[in-house]
Amino acid sequence: MKDLIIIGSGPAGLTAAIYAARAKLSPLVIAGTLWGGQLMTTTEVENFPGFPDGIQGPELMQRMLDQAMKFGSEILYEDVIKVELKSDVKKVYTHQKMFESKSVIISSGAMPRKLGIPGESEFWSKGVSSCATCDGAFYKGKQVAVIGGGDSAMEEAIFLTKFASKVYIIHRRDQFRASKIMVDKAASNEKIQFIFNTEVKEILGNQFVEKIKIYNNQENTESILDVDGVFLAIGHIPMTSFLNEELALDEGGYIKVINEVYTDVPGVFIAGDVQDHVFRQAITAAGSGCKAAIACERWLESLKK
Ligand code: NAP
Repeated sequence: MKDLIIIGSGPAGLTAAIYAARAKLSPLVIAGTLWGGQLMTTTEVENFPGFPDGIQGPELMQRMLDQAMKFGSEILYEDVIKVELKSDVKKVYTHQKMFESKSVIISSGAMPRKLGIPGESEFWSKGVSSCATCDGAFYKGKQVAVIGGGDSAMEEAIFLTKFASKVYIIHRRDQFRASKIMVDKAASNEKIQFIFNTEVKEILGNQFVEKIKIYNNQENTESILDVDGVFLAIGHIPMTSFLNEELALDEGGYIKVINEVYTDVPGVFIAGDVQDHVFRQAITAAGSGCKAAIACERWLESLKK
């Protein structure tokens, strides 16, 4: 039986692995068949401390993986399909096998919800993004569109006005879901223009995004809007399908935090975007992975007393 299984291999999971491995817990990281999390589909990362000239997302994740392995983490490239967490022996199932451990850190991440339209995958990280904090600075003096009508859309749009010359907020209805205070803040910013009752049908360009095809669902008309960037703010999907009600989720599907990285099940800790719908940054995920590993190590130590 393992001391610790870590589910997920984004910045949260791999930071937890580095700390746990250095504490001689020899963690098993079940990394997923597609390992590395959201940074694997990101190009330049300019806001991760320690890289003043920026670093490519996949390279940053490879470095974290190498660091985790260097200290003795075992990495398994399989997907977790089921867990049983409530007894002293935790069971984690992949398609191939079942693993047992005394403790588990869940850092399975979240996926930005996508529109599923032509051009979205093709131009991902080449003009299409789901993180203004990460990518906004690349759009100095440019025109961008933010898609969505919630608080994230308002927040992303307001942030983007620091760089972009014009920010469209495109929403599929005529009423925003966002709080009034956020809508008012966006409305009073002269760089922001609201476009209601409108759906994005296609993202167009050559090497990078150049324009989008939009559809007004009230007037039944299509038009083209020139933009260099498309920021999706239509929500995130936390990766919890393998949990089978073993842990409590909030109304958005995120794992409920009891205290910092603790869950209501002894020996089960959480880290990263699977419990964070507010900050969602690689560095905050890494920070919570560190906390989860330290909390877990102390919990395992307490079992010996
Ligand atoms: P959200 O509140 O779920 O809003 C998602 C928005 O995207 C909605 O307006 C929705 O449209 C739209 N949408 C969803 N799927 C779409 C699709 N396929 N095509 C087009 N539009 C689509 O998500 P969020 O804005 O990320 O916020 C998540 C949570 O975090 C909320 O509780 C929010 O209050 C909170 N948050 C708070 C702050 C803050 O207080 N500073 C900042 C960010 C987030 P409909 O409205 O038509 O459904």
